Amino acid sequence: MTTPTDLPTLATHWLTALDAELPAARALRRELHADPHVSGDEAPTRDRIVAALSDVVPFTPMTDAGAVGRLGPASGPSIALRAELDALPVTEQTGASFASKNGAMHACGHDVHQAALVALMRAARRVDLPFGLVGLLQPREETSPPGAQEMIQAGVIAQHDIAHVIGAHVHPGVATGAVASAGGFINAAAEEIDIRIEGRGGHGAYPHLAGDTVAAIAHIALGIPEVVRRTISPVRPALISIGTLNAGLGVANVLPAHAHIRSTMRTTDVGDRAELFAAVKRMAERTAEAYGTTATVTLIEGQPALINDHDLAFGINAWLTRLDVPGDEPMRSLGADDFAYFCEAVPSAMLFVGVETAGEDLQPTLHHARFLPDESAVDLTARALLAGYLAAAEGMLAVE
Ligand SMILES: [Zn+2]
Repeated sequence: MTTPTDLPTLATHWLTALDAELPAARALRRELHADPHVSGDEAPTRDRIVAALSDVVPFTPMTDAGAVGRLGPASGPSIALRAELDALPVTEQTGASFASKNGAMHACGHDVHQAALVALMRAARRVDLPFGLVGLLQPREETSPPGAQEMIQAGVIAQHDIAHVIGAHVHPGVATGAVASAGGFINAAAEEIDIRIEGRGGHGAYPHLAGDTVAAIAHIALGIPEVVRRTISPVRPALISIGTLNAGLGVANVLPAHAHIRSTMRTTDVGDRAELFAAVKRMAERTAEAYGTTATVTLIEGQPALINDHDLAFGINAWLTRLDVPGDEPMRSLGADDFAYFCEAVPSAMLFVGVETAGEDLQPTLHHARFLPDESAVDLTARALLAGYLAAAEGMLAVE
């Protein structure tokens, strides 16, 4: 068994081996980028990655399009590294020589994560790992049912005695060359609130004889931000955005009998979810009643908040420094990522890898048709994952 003092030596050898793998990993990234597959259809991507690692580690299929492979000690606790497999239904506009032509696009950088994981696992065969290194090839990060939740339900944590999961995601909001690692909330819980208003409807000239769903839904829509402000402490981020508001039949003089709101609710504290939903429900029901209508308010459950383990994130920052990777301000957003399920299962950490584009005032965001991280992001993502493994191993060796 490796002793704690061996970790810096392990890091040095692993980095040297990683450097040798990077040219092939960058070529693999271009290949994966050119042939993306959307959520639920990722089997060809999984098979290409498994082939790239076939001489290093065997993979076992898991869920519809996922797979798991373990390097190093075959038993005992392990550290898992996650790579998402799916692309998005976006028509690429990057103009890159390796741009996708099939109507799908790796517009969230998952091709970079995949190539980085391959490089790091290939390099790992040259070192003596103190704990198992588990590669998680995870489908369906972008849609439901979430691939991370399905892999956990399939038993991956117990099968490999996974103690920690590390994820690294490229992000244009982090300075190029830097990696952001922070404890606490990183992404929000994302749920949907559906509000249906029913009324008598009637003639536009006789609103006093009708139940006016348009008036009701307009006041509910404007009331929602006020409910958020008065329910949740302003020091804990939370919001509700209305994405769909429907009422009316396309004519001017008929008061409609139905109206409908679909909104997304984002919270960062477990207790806030139920409290905010209850407050919106109360306001919507009573506002509807005031306009002679009724409201049916439904919560459609989504993903939990992504909460990074504080100790692990702190340890990763220290290892990033030792690996000569500059840190950056914590990257937190009210976006959502199903990595949250791994964080719920075991103490885990999601890191953000800087891919800011120089000289652009308005960065192409994640999921944008022109989002294209430079290939140096493969190297940086691999180093971020390496820092994650080393920090996790350090913590596990300390308690052995
Ligand atoms: Zn993503």
